[in-house]
Amino acid sequence: MRRLWNLYLRPRTVPEALRAIHEAPQPAAFIAGGTDLLLDIETGRHPRPHTLVDVTDVDELQALEVRGDRLFVGAAVPVARVAASPLVRTHAQALAEACALIAGPQVRNLATLGGNVAHALPAADGTIALVALDAQAEVASPRGRRRVPLETLFLGPGRSALGHDELLVGFYLPLARPGQASAFRRVMRPQGVALPILNAAVWLRREGDRVADVGIAMGPSGPVPRRLRATEAALRGHALTPERVAAAKEALLREARFRTSKFRASETYRRLLAGVLLEEALQTAWARAGTA
Ligand SMILES: Cc1cc2nc3c(=O)[nH]c(=O)nc-3n(C[C@H](O)[C@H](O)[C@H](O)COP(=O)(O)OP(=O)(O)OC[C@H]3O[C@@H](n4cnc5c(N)ncnc54)[C@H](O)[C@@H]3O)c2cc1C
Repeated sequence: MRRLWNLYLRPRTVPEALRAIHEAPQPAAFIAGGTDLLLDIETGRHPRPHTLVDVTDVDELQALEVRGDRLFVGAAVPVARVAASPLVRTHAQALAEACALIAGPQVRNLATLGGNVAHALPAADGTIALVALDAQAEVASPRGRRRVPLETLFLGPGRSALGHDELLVGFYLPLARPGQASAFRRVMRPQGVALPILNAAVWLRREGDRVADVGIAMGPSGPVPRRLRATEAALRGHALTPERVAAAKEALLREARFRTSKFRASETYRRLLAGVLLEEALQTAWARAGTA
């Protein structure tokens, strides 16, 4: 059988991982669960690497804990663990729900949140939830570490802004305060087939009958995962009346760029689903925030 790579390295720390990618014979790439990358190499969508640097033994990338006023989820945490984590279920329900819907159990045990983000697909479920939750990513490279808004990591479908020697360490999410909650919804072909027809993630802060603040993302609704800011603006500061929800749906259809994709759905179908998914996620987050 033809080998997909020549050298496979398993560093234990972030500095070791950065040194490995820097010193390895090129081309070299990080690998986590391999559920995207190995398929991409096999089908020629990714050039055949000489060296793969496996990041799943790096302790820091496996951490899932509260750090100060943030929840930290390491980039190499498998999505099955994210979905089952009581901390994630408390502070970031949308992320737990998104990760529980990715693929089937075997893939979920391997697939990592960092791989989901680095693969940069506009409908990736974990990524869409992180964007709505206003996550920040920690990125390490030989030039140091930086924390950046998640949305800045994407250049186009399947194209991340990460350099080949830049390692995603993990994601920081705000801890949920009273009156804050989130929710994730998706429409999909049978579970396990990959990527949704459409998904929606909503985070909100509720004050009485008012939406004090809100974050919304939907995938795919354009070439990159992003917040839908005009849709958010239609809701922010207003009571959640049926008229307001209708205004938000109109804003969504003006703002989102739905397209027809060969194997999943037509643009028309996605436009029909969009308002329904938005309303479901919105009302679920709203009800949760009322009891939080
Ligand atoms: C059958 C099947 C069903 C699927 N269903 C879904 C689905 O429903 N929803 C969904 O969103 N996705 C789905 N996927 C896609 C996939 O499982 C996810 O995107 C997964 O989270 C990728 O993580 P990974 O650890 O396997 O990444 P890998 O394949 O290991 O890596 C993916 C990319 O990320 C890079 N990378 C990985 N870790 C890092 C890091 N720490 N720092 C920098 N770069 C890194 C790699 O170099 C590579 O370019 C499915 C895949 C399969 C095979």
